Amino acid sequence: MIHYILQGHELQNDVQTMIQVFYPNLHYIRMDEVVPSGLSVISSMEKGIASAVLCRDGKKVNRFSMEYQEGLGEKEEKRLIKRTIYELLKAETGLRPQWGLLTGVRPAKIISGLLMEGNSEDDCLEYLTKDYLVMEHKAKLALTVAKAEEKILNSNKPKDISLYIGIPFCPTRCLYCSFTAYPLAQYKNRVDEYLEAMFRELEFLEEYAKDLHVQNIYIGGGTPTSLTEQQLQRLLQKVAILFDTKDIEYTVEAGRPDTITKEKLRLMKDYGVNRISINPQTMNEDTLKRIGRQHSVEDIRRVFYEARELGHENINMDLILGLPGEEPEDVRSTMEEILALAPDNVTVHTLAVKRASRLKEEFDQHTLATAEALEKMLSIAAEYAEKMGMEPYYMYRQKNMVGNFENVGYCHPGKEGIYNVQIMEEKQTVLAVGAGASTKTVDPQTDRIERIFNVKSVEDYIARIDEMIERKKVGLPKGGWK
Ligand code: SF4
Repeated sequence: MIHYILQGHELQNDVQTMIQVFYPNLHYIRMDEVVPSGLSVISSMEKGIASAVLCRDGKKVNRFSMEYQEGLGEKEEKRLIKRTIYELLKAETGLRPQWGLLTGVRPAKIISGLLMEGNSEDDCLEYLTKDYLVMEHKAKLALTVAKAEEKILNSNKPKDISLYIGIPFCPTRCLYCSFTAYPLAQYKNRVDEYLEAMFRELEFLEEYAKDLHVQNIYIGGGTPTSLTEQQLQRLLQKVAILFDTKDIEYTVEAGRPDTITKEKLRLMKDYGVNRISINPQTMNEDTLKRIGRQHSVEDIRRVFYEARELGHENINMDLILGLPGEEPEDVRSTMEEILALAPDNVTVHTLAVKRASRLKEEFDQHTLATAEALEKMLSIAAEYAEKMGMEPYYMYRQKNMVGNFENVGYCHPGKEGIYNVQIMEEKQTVLAVGAGASTKTVDPQTDRIERIFNVKSVEDYIARIDEMIERKKVGLPKGGWK
């Protein structure tokens, strides 16, 4: 547990997230004064001096201060406050966070903005490394991703939209999961009703999107392949009737290998799905058990080869680094296995301890990787991605990520997941159906974003489907976008 005290400013979020970078996964509590035991950080900004003070057991043990001119803008104030905490805790812990002062943002988006303002690539790198203390290799990663994303985003047309279809069921709940995902065993008897309700929402969107162009379709979850073969066929058939799936990116996040059968792979292929995910997370048998997955490493290999045999030419594999109990060498052996399978995309996540997850509840029972170990894991993953001929093309970071690192999507050139970039960069409207799905409209003229939410619970979604459709009738711009 770490306490912090603010004096002369109210930048609570910036203070907490900066402390979190150095001391991840603790409890952070704002207080009015220093507590007599444990660590406290005082962050103050008064009379031209910004400072951060570290107290241990009620006594001041270290301090870092900087002078500033009164009348700073908000952005500069935030940077200054973070800088003082950063220097204080860097001296205390000996850690040098790779992303410097950047917390919870999309570094590539910052670079895209700078490039659009006419800055050179060198200017962008200098801005990140000098002003935000980002390490050079991370700044370069952000630049590579920004350029890859730009290529995709530049080809967006005003009437292009993405369509997301959510299947919120999973065979079991993974240790780290915070998504809308319901155990299939409990909801088995309601899946057909769920599909019926969702089909009505889809029919409404088909009508609405008549003058728009569906650029990509993404069936995600949950685990879409937790549907039975018949249910999956009904869903794919419905999509085929309502939307033109030819020549677009059509993804099914097949996800967990224990739900994927040869027949489901065949159905996806037959209905034009041209991008699937088979997500091992790790190729370490013990970790798979620890995180609550029911499949074995052998299941992953089997399903992957079956998919290839049936002609799936764009397969993504999701991995998570920093899973409880894993060391860098476990990541190396996972990457060796992935190298042998040779997928087309690899999405490398670092573990985030989310509030709604079992991991958060059972936090004290697990050993998580240190920031140092995670950095090694990330560089092992990057090294293998390069060996596989892949390049990073999208990236995002989340709060509560162990070590404040990043999630990176790597792929062979030309195999980029367009939906991933669209959802991340928020430059395109995403129409979404299903429980817990949120539709996001982006006005291409102004970049203004509006959201329309669906209820999360399956029961409510089925019972209130008319209301979900009504919300879209009211919230979606009439006649699309000019
Ligand atoms: S497969 Fe994904 S959505 Fe399902 S429980 Fe695991 S993390 Fe959650």
